[in-house]
Amino acid sequence: MPHEETRELIDTHCHLASKRYVNLESVCEQSRSLGLSHCISQGTHPKDWETTLAQAREKPDFVSACLAVHPSDCTEVDEEQWRRMKKLCRENRLAAIGETGLDYYWDAPQGWDETAYRSRQRDFLERHFELAHELGLNISLHTRDKAGAGSACFEDAFAIARQFPTVRPVFHCFIGSKQQAERIFEQLDGMVSFTGLITFKRTEEVQAVAAWCPEDRIMVETDAPFLSPEPHRGELNIPGRVRYVAEKLAGLRRVSIEEISRITSRNAHLFFRISA
Ligand SMILES: [Zn+2]
Ligand SMILES: [Zn+2]
Repeated sequence: MPHEETRELIDTHCHLASKRYVNLESVCEQSRSLGLSHCISQGTHPKDWETTLAQAREKPDFVSACLAVHPSDCTEVDEEQWRRMKKLCRENRLAAIGETGLDYYWDAPQGWDETAYRSRQRDFLERHFELAHELGLNISLHTRDKAGAGSACFEDAFAIARQFPTVRPVFHCFIGSKQQAERIFEQLDGMVSFTGLITFKRTEEVQAVAAWCPEDRIMVETDAPFLSPEPHRGELNIPGRVRYVAEKLAGLRRVSIEEISRITSRNAHLFFRISA
């Protein structure tokens, strides 16, 4: 029996093609029973692209697909695979291009120095924006800096996004400052989405940002199978647990869960052009 009050919830960022899901049917069923109505699944590696598209084709009411190359995988993708991805993007119905972005958190893979690795990530990000522009789609954007190393990653991604005014980005798993959020809203017409991180201890700064953001700029997500929210931290995450993210957000903003569900789902419908 779905939770009536949250049955409109949309998980705007998860990875249903993950090998960690051995029984997808049961993942979807459990998610529905937690009140989930729809999820946006990100196929981010050549091995995931077809699976992600097939899952969205099989369950069009429940799953929408995004395709991209994750920044951490950009050295594994050659030109032929890139052309294959572009073809899949042109031939299939997508909710957005994603997830792509910049990741300065993990060290460069073997055989790559840091400068070349980051420059390849930026090149790929620009290509994704060009493709999104061509297809009239928005972008699901990943940015991650090394702790305490400043915000070079955010600034570089911001500068690239600035060059593409027709493409709106959502900064997924947002953990940035209020100032960064303001720049995303005002200069990129962008969005932010929050994960289970806001349910963790010692994330007061981003909780304050989540409480402050204008209501037409926020969405919720799980990044499942990763980042399971409290009270399930450390477990395999499923899209339905976006419910705990939404409950936390409702508490932070002092509104009801129904209100958060209504606001974030409306934003997701507009941003990802999910048909009703
Ligand atoms: Zn990410
Ligand atoms: Zn992700």
